[in-house]
Amino acid sequence: MRQHSPAMVCPICQTAMIVKTSAFTHFCKQCDYWGAMLPVDIDGATDDEAEGAISDQAYIASLEGLRVKNFKLILAQLKQLKFETQISILDVGCASGLFMRVAQAQGYAVKGIEPNRQLFALTQQQGLNVVHDYFPPQQPLHEKFDVIIFNDVFEHIPDVHQILKNCGTYLKQDGLLILNLPNAEGLIFNVSRLLTACGWSGPWDRLWQVMFRTPHLHYFTFKSLNKLLAQHRFFAVGDKHQIATIELTGFWARLALDRSLLGFLKNCVLYLGTLCLYPAIRLAEKDTFFALYRRDNVSDRQ
Ligand SMILES: [Zn+2]
Repeated sequence: MRQHSPAMVCPICQTAMIVKTSAFTHFCKQCDYWGAMLPVDIDGATDDEAEGAISDQAYIASLEGLRVKNFKLILAQLKQLKFETQISILDVGCASGLFMRVAQAQGYAVKGIEPNRQLFALTQQQGLNVVHDYFPPQQPLHEKFDVIIFNDVFEHIPDVHQILKNCGTYLKQDGLLILNLPNAEGLIFNVSRLLTACGWSGPWDRLWQVMFRTPHLHYFTFKSLNKLLAQHRFFAVGDKHQIATIELTGFWARLALDRSLLGFLKNCVLYLGTLCLYPAIRLAEKDTFFALYRRDNVSDRQ
């Protein structure tokens, strides 16, 4: 069922979006952009002590192997663009510092910024250079960076325009902005949409992380992301890089964390289904991509 929603305006073209697939998801046909009207509670998450920290850590651990692999792909791209290890990287929403550790092991100087108190503490305990705040921090950093990276963070940010403006402020001239985020063209995204139409909304809700304190608010295609970034004079360097989000190793453990939502039987169906479809999943459009952007500084000087 589709209806006009006066409540959500497309952040890219500023026209009204339609409610599509579920009551909370909105779509802009012109931009091929998906947005969600979901409550965000990052501050609440900061005060949420024991239980949240344990589930976050278990969730992070279950994803770690695959994420390390993906981070190495990103760093390989940096090297290809001659961003050698003497450069500085700002990791926005660094969570428990995994990317920082991988980059630091390769010799990069990385600073992290993380608003969640527990994740900040976890990162600091590892001796990593991390600031406890949102981006941009209240206390200015008094430095500019060669690279600013958002790993699984950009899709959680309500005001993407404000964030992009701040990236312009903190990036050195000819610096790179790297966005690593979910893909609206991904196979799982589109299969989940079909399943919702068939009456099973579990995977769709899971994709948007509706049960989490900081759900996904945006799903971009590479094209729609480019359209948004061009408004802040960021232009893609090369094509998008698709990265795998599913690996059978650790997949069951990750599903099992969502006991309350899907239940054991649904997890079994999802796991067996994934097992059968795995060869196709490997060939299809991936559900995450990263892209590198350079700012057009020429217009600054005009
Ligand atoms: Zn639009």
